[in-house]
Amino acid sequence: MKLLIKTSAPSTDVNELYNNAGDKIKESMASFQMRGSNWRFVAVQKLDINTVQYKPLKGSSYIPRPKYLADKKAIINLKNEDNQCFKWCWARALNPVEKNSQRATEELRKQAEALNGNGITFPVTLKEIDKFERNNTDLSVNVFGYEKGFVYPLRISKHERKHAVDLLLISNDSINHYCLINNLSRLLSGQVSNNQKSRLFCRRCLNSFRSNEALDKHKRYCNVHAAVWLKMPKPGTKLTFKNHNRSLRVPFIVYADFESFIKPIHTCQPDPNTSYNKQHQKHTPSSFCYYIKCFNDDVYEHEPVSGVAQGDDDDVAGKFVETLEAHIKQIYRQFKFPKRMTFTKATKKGTREQPNVIFVMGSLVVIVLEITVTLREDLKEQHTMAAT
Ligand SMILES: [Zn+2]
Repeated sequence: MKLLIKTSAPSTDVNELYNNAGDKIKESMASFQMRGSNWRFVAVQKLDINTVQYKPLKGSSYIPRPKYLADKKAIINLKNEDNQCFKWCWARALNPVEKNSQRATEELRKQAEALNGNGITFPVTLKEIDKFERNNTDLSVNVFGYEKGFVYPLRISKHERKHAVDLLLISNDSINHYCLINNLSRLLSGQVSNNQKSRLFCRRCLNSFRSNEALDKHKRYCNVHAAVWLKMPKPGTKLTFKNHNRSLRVPFIVYADFESFIKPIHTCQPDPNTSYNKQHQKHTPSSFCYYIKCFNDDVYEHEPVSGVAQGDDDDVAGKFVETLEAHIKQIYRQFKFPKRMTFTKATKKGTREQPNVIFVMGSLVVIVLEITVTLREDLKEQHTMAAT
């Protein structure tokens, strides 16, 4: 009847959880009966309870590196027997040594005391790293995961601080363990290309760049997005169009694109007991650009046409329709189509106030103008030749 998702931690009162779930079911049944379907509740015949154990990611004690990572020679795997690999990694990052850097020595333990670990419990979860960054205001932590030869971002810091440390969380069946990455470029090389030359990586998306300038330019855009693992299609993968019988051959196609300001719409909270659509943003067009493509560039070619709003009240959509209409009429006159293009009242109204366009994933708009006309005989010949 209803899916209830609840989290049960060791401190949760199970009776309370059960009572709340029971109340919720009774409430749902009452509201169902009130809808006037004439169905009557008689009995609960079956109750399914599905549970799953929640295992938060947290790093604890030493486990050997997978061979792929060992061969890379880009990480330091601290050999600790306690749950504090996170702390030892940090101490090693701030106090590098030439030899035996994987040993959690007495000296390293003393060096770790310089870190502020207030309120941190070991093993450290990804969530607790926020607290660690708040305690240590000149440190920032990035954590990467590893799976079948691929390294990917798990937790990328929001801060750019004096000391930034990259950790790799590796795991076997029962234990997760933080390792210190001492050469990110070497660790990731080969994952993105066969080029073994040292490259600079964006930690959020693992794209690589040759120069600091290129990386900085990329980061300006990438930093506003969440860290992601980009999985590209396999080499040679193709998207193909099969339904050629459903395609329409046209002499001209208009490709158009709008840019818009997005303004929030303030509305009342709708009734949560009924299905509703909530409008929360209004797209106000601020500029447009369109390009008219002929089936043959030798027959007709024109530069892209664009328009930008000069003020808040500028009707960019209207201007777009007017410009495009004039352009289409000019093409019509140029090729002397024997049949006149007619804009009905309804079409004009629809196109001027709210253009009949299809928005595809953002603001890309493709308009296919269906010009059902008879081409001049010579033009028709070229059309047929170009299409075969
Ligand atoms: Zn990036």
